Amino acid sequence: MTEHRFEADVSRVLRLVVESLYSNREIFLRELISNAADALDKLRFRALSEPHLLAEGEALALRLIPDRDAGTLTIADDGVGMTAEELAKNLGTIAHSGSRELVERLGGAGDAKARLELIGQFGVGFYSAFLVASRVEVTSRAAGEAGAHRWSCEGGDTFVVEPAERASRGTSVVLTLKPEQRELLEPWRLRELVRQWSDFVPHPIELAVTREVGEGEERRHELAFERVNTASALWQRPAREVEREQYVELYKHLTHDWEEPLAWRHFHIEGTQMFSGIVYVPRRPPVDLFARETHHGVRLHVRRVLVLESAEELVPRWLRFVRGVVDSEDLPLNVSRELLQDSRAVRVIEKQLVVQTLDLLDELARDRPDDYALFWRAFGAVLKEGLHFAPEHRERLARLARFRSTRGDGLVTLDAYVEKMPLVQPAIYYVVGPTEAALAASPHLEALRERGWEVLLLTDPVDTFAVAGLREHGGKPLADAAASGVKLPESEDAEAHKARASASAPLLERIQRALGERVSAVRASERLVGSPACLVLPEGGVAPHVERMLRASSVELPPQRRALEVNLEHPWLQRLQARLDAGADAGELDASVLLLHEQALLAEGSPVEDPAALARKLAELVAAQG
Ligand code: ADP
Repeated sequence: MTEHRFEADVSRVLRLVVESLYSNREIFLRELISNAADALDKLRFRALSEPHLLAEGEALALRLIPDRDAGTLTIADDGVGMTAEELAKNLGTIAHSGSRELVERLGGAGDAKARLELIGQFGVGFYSAFLVASRVEVTSRAAGEAGAHRWSCEGGDTFVVEPAERASRGTSVVLTLKPEQRELLEPWRLRELVRQWSDFVPHPIELAVTREVGEGEERRHELAFERVNTASALWQRPAREVEREQYVELYKHLTHDWEEPLAWRHFHIEGTQMFSGIVYVPRRPPVDLFARETHHGVRLHVRRVLVLESAEELVPRWLRFVRGVVDSEDLPLNVSRELLQDSRAVRVIEKQLVVQTLDLLDELARDRPDDYALFWRAFGAVLKEGLHFAPEHRERLARLARFRSTRGDGLVTLDAYVEKMPLVQPAIYYVVGPTEAALAASPHLEALRERGWEVLLLTDPVDTFAVAGLREHGGKPLADAAASGVKLPESEDAEAHKARASASAPLLERIQRALGERVSAVRASERLVGSPACLVLPEGGVAPHVERMLRASSVELPPQRRALEVNLEHPWLQRLQARLDAGADAGELDASVLLLHEQALLAEGSPVEDPAALARKLAELVAAQG
């Protein structure tokens, strides 16, 4: 017998789960049935390559065995089972990444509802057993092994794994129910819970019941098994016969999410390939949506048999939030990763899943705009990757995209933007930056703001690539308002501006000399109204915050220099001009020019070269002027 101590995080999660989920305690049964059904699926799948594991024609089942005398409820399956090591690992750590993060966030989450949502996001599966049980015993014999082991725990900080007996392959979870949970031993209660939570589980769920048999002297009790679920594959049925609740329960079964999905779509495809499926959009993003190593994809069945938990090949990465199931009539049962990668059949399914998902999103945007906004906040940044990676869907994605803009708090579509554009406005303007607040105040937008022209504020890292993929909408080009070549509104007195710029050529040269390599050019600006200067990107340049991000993740980039645009109307520039005219020495002017450059960096939210030196200069200035 070996006593193990849970990782500190696990025992805390365990306690928090019991506290937070108490009023939803029935979900324990769905979680345990789900695990048992997965174990049956895994066995069937392994038997494809190791046929000795499963006898010809052997039926797989899942059993619920209430024992009133012992006060226990057993959930038994003849699935893959677990070895001693697997028992300790699978049930001693939280399977999902980030249990520490869960604990931290649970600690911070205020009310019960917030906690519940968080737990749903992480999923705690097996541990929900402790909602109703004071002791949990898991006896398991792994497929192909001779011996069995038992894992047991009484809800404290430790658990035990020891050798045990089990006649055949599979797992039995024995729950010693807390006294107030003994209702769970009643057959009617168990039937009700199975129908409510697990009806479509694609394996028979059998309930042990005692029946009276025989007459008179011969009368005795006999144990019998009664089938309690319908176990038909939901996605095979015509959509009109499936109820809303059933879609929701299937989703929860597939994803272990405790929240309802935001939307779904059920489809049957007939043609060169025959398959059915359901795609779901979750309500909330998983914690690892932007991690490089996330798994995604839908569950793949072939003629009802589960063959892959998450087939990434069926869903492009820019739809990695999609969950669901696909059941193919044509793929071979022993599909391998290699086959998935270069099968034509798989391409057909993938294409169809993309179309179904885009249809689903169109519908959601049209019929339930508030929910669509919720979707966009959760997954918009992922969907936008499609603008870059899936040019064939550019039009549809452009219509699905939503943006924040200088006009108001809501989200705007490109169609709405174009509709509101004044005739003289030549382009759809956007700026890319780290935060909306910094962008909205950006000096680059002054000329546009003065005319009341709307500018899209892009703050997602993916935006630079998304707008490059987008290029234009409704016949109007997209233009980066912070780039040097951007077409800006003609200023009212263009002639006067030109004259002033040429008169100021010596000043611009002086500034260029003072800044040297820091800038690529110095120009008189037409876009500035209230600010003295701003830095502009070369055409197709990478926004400074994106550049910093890329460099930080060791992406090699050629050095990028920007041009300084100065506002000749601004008192700062006029003073520089006056001092130049009065023959001020270069050193004196240069200090002011360097400051001008640094304040342009500050205004756009970029770091300055030497903050301490800047602070010193500021202090000197204020001290000198009072
Ligand atoms: P999840 O099911 O979300 O991965 P759980 O905490 O519910 O998380 O279960 C942890 C792991 O324990 C499962 O991934 C599975 O490998 C294993 N497991 C749980 N129940 C069973 C079972 N009845 N048969 C075989 N393995 C199981």
